[in-house]
Amino acid sequence: MTKNYISSLLLSLSIFLLLLMGVLIYLTYSTNTVFRNDAYIINATGMIRGSIQRLSKFELTGCTQVCDDISDAIDFKINDILKINYVDEHAHEATQFSKQLKALAESWQQLKILHGEYRSNPDEKTKNEIIAMSEYCWSLADTLVMNAQITTEGKLERVKMFYPVSVLIVLGNILSIFIIFTTVRKKLEHHAAIDALTGIYNRYTFEQVLENEIYRSLRFDRSFTILYFDIDKFKNINDSFGHHIGDTVLIEITKLVRKSIRKIDTLSRIGGEEFSIIVPEISKSDAYKMADKIRSAVENHHFTLGEKVTISIGVAEYSKNMHKEELISQADKAMYKAKQNGRNRVELYD
Ligand code: GH3
Ligand code: MG
Ligand code: MG
Repeated sequence: MTKNYISSLLLSLSIFLLLLMGVLIYLTYSTNTVFRNDAYIINATGMIRGSIQRLSKFELTGCTQVCDDISDAIDFKINDILKINYVDEHAHEATQFSKQLKALAESWQQLKILHGEYRSNPDEKTKNEIIAMSEYCWSLADTLVMNAQITTEGKLERVKMFYPVSVLIVLGNILSIFIIFTTVRKKLEHHAAIDALTGIYNRYTFEQVLENEIYRSLRFDRSFTILYFDIDKFKNINDSFGHHIGDTVLIEITKLVRKSIRKIDTLSRIGGEEFSIIVPEISKSDAYKMADKIRSAVENHHFTLGEKVTISIGVAEYSKNMHKEELISQADKAMYKAKQNGRNRVELYD
């Protein structure tokens, strides 16, 4: 997977999760309002249903002291529900609900008129009309309560889909964190091990590989060699052609040397214009030949800057119980000798 692909994947995932979260927050908020309204409607219609019955009973038995209060309370609740925007995904049910509510409000007004008539003229005919109208109001209110309960239960069922959506968001977040973690870790590992300019191993990796090689050498009683090389008069190149051209020389030399070594050899940039090659499974004399081949390849290469570039190489062989620093120091001393003896040459540490 390329870095660009991972970045766009992460970006798409984050945008998708944000959208999903937005939808969920909106749905939760709107569903909350719907449920709050539904609960109010169920309670209020239930209260209206009971109060109309009680009120008619008091009116017919002449206990009119509390009737005005009950009547006001019914008026208040009916007006309140009429103001609520009843939400149902099925338009038919919503229209049905508001029709029933209007019918209840009208019947209630008629019942109030009948109550007034009965107070001034308590005859049998009005009494029967009150009983019939109050019964009609009761059944309308009852239908409203029932319908509101049934549709609310339906809505509750639909809310269950919020759970898988939430699970999806959590999983998406975990995936996103996982991808970020692995990408960042890979990048960190890369930066810790690789030299940014040349793309070969850095000093840190060189020392790690060297320690492993020493361990392997002791364990299997095999020797190995390290080559240390430094570009000759590199400062002059920088001074004459600029730092940028100096950088391209470092890159070109790296590519060139890479071609001249085996897969099991480890090329690292130790720092500045100094490099090292860990060469396992080779005799000292073969290591010398290999070093001279590399030196000659650099000397004969046509660099972009159009000038000859040479290197000086020091070779040191690992011998039992030698410390890592000691081996490095020997290779460095051999390289220094190559510099002293005129540069563009290979020297073995004796
Ligand atoms: P010698 O043959 O004795 O090695 O001479 P030299 O000029 O190569 O040695 P010196 O140590 O005097 O100079 C090394 C130069 O390498 C100095 C420094 O500016 C340059 N250098 C170190 N790192 C980099 C780099 O990353 N890029 C470039 N362009 N130059 C670098
Ligand atoms: Mg140099
Ligand atoms: Mg140097």
